Amino acid sequence: MYKANSKRYETMKYKRCGKSGLLLPRVSLGLWHNFGSVDSIENQKQLLFTAFDCGITHFDLANNYGHEPGSAEENFGRILKSDLMSYRDEMVISTKAGYEMWAGPYGNWGSRKYLIASLDQSLKRMGLEYVDIFYHHRPDPDTPLEETMMALADIVKSGKALYVGISNYNAEQTRLAAAILKDLGTPLLINQFRYNMFARDAEKDNLFDALETVGAGSIAFCPLAQGLLTSKYLNGIPEGSRATHSVFLKKENITEDIVRKVKALSEIAENRGQTIAEMALSWDLRKDRLTSVLTGSSRAEQIAENVKIIEKMDFTDDELSSIDKILA
Ligand code: NDP
Repeated sequence: MYKANSKRYETMKYKRCGKSGLLLPRVSLGLWHNFGSVDSIENQKQLLFTAFDCGITHFDLANNYGHEPGSAEENFGRILKSDLMSYRDEMVISTKAGYEMWAGPYGNWGSRKYLIASLDQSLKRMGLEYVDIFYHHRPDPDTPLEETMMALADIVKSGKALYVGISNYNAEQTRLAAAILKDLGTPLLINQFRYNMFARDAEKDNLFDALETVGAGSIAFCPLAQGLLTSKYLNGIPEGSRATHSVFLKKENITEDIVRKVKALSEIAENRGQTIAEMALSWDLRKDRLTSVLTGSSRAEQIAENVKIIEKMDFTDDELSSIDKILA
């Protein structure tokens, strides 16, 4: 039976999520990969226990995560039940709905019908009475935003989620969603979007300013560009790495240009006394509006490495401009 490290809160730092009362760890763990039906349950336990022992209190899921959609929630629920349930009140667990989950017209996008049914299914798979954050996973161009936001607000009123978030919404969509939620008496807690050295759309879109205006927090997914912003692909494609088995990161994504940039970035990281992975995460968190980086990990050692960024999150202006030049 797992017993959490008694020193788990000594090094991790926590930041207020927007203007809410909720603090999130600066490093969070996502269960998109490595927690599915094809993954070792022992390794999944090691990942979750290591994360929790390092002060990572936030675990992010979605209805469709896992090799078989739903299997990540099932596995997470199994481990919660066997080892972690006594720590439930120390954890922030999120899930989402918005991508295709079941057949027919009601298992996708953003209708009230889909969101409410999907959360009920997620709670059942995880063996939970409520999640801390429930997200709409992506904007739905065909459902009125009012309907989607009203479903989120009603979910909070029903007690099945404590807070609500949106994911992959741009600045304009964020402003509109936040305004509707505010009128409904359920503030928007957070926006979850892709943000890393190779994916800077959030900056171009002024998304951080929009978040500031509406008082919401934010969390960056794929902060390591699925592993590209680590040293692992500098000398070929290692056996077992994501690029060897995931449809979301293909071998052809590892171009000469990417490798050249990561090598150049590694030199700056080395001068800072960090690995490239650590520097990439610290770089995300230089944005004051970013509450947390939502990392993934296939091995416990990666988590131990990634939480080291807590010790070094500041950059000099020279470092930032050298990084920009490499990325240009
Ligand atoms: P990352 O960019 O952090 O990539 C994680 C992968 O990078 C790991 O699986 C591992 O790959 C590699 N890695 C991590 N740390 C290290 C390290 N220190 N050294 C070497 N390699 C390392 O994030 P993900 O792409 O996994 O996404 C994170 C989370 O974001 C998801 O789990 C999910 O919760 C969320 N997400 C949300 C989306 C949305 O639409 N809302 C979309 C996508 C993700 P390897 O397996 O090769 O070892």
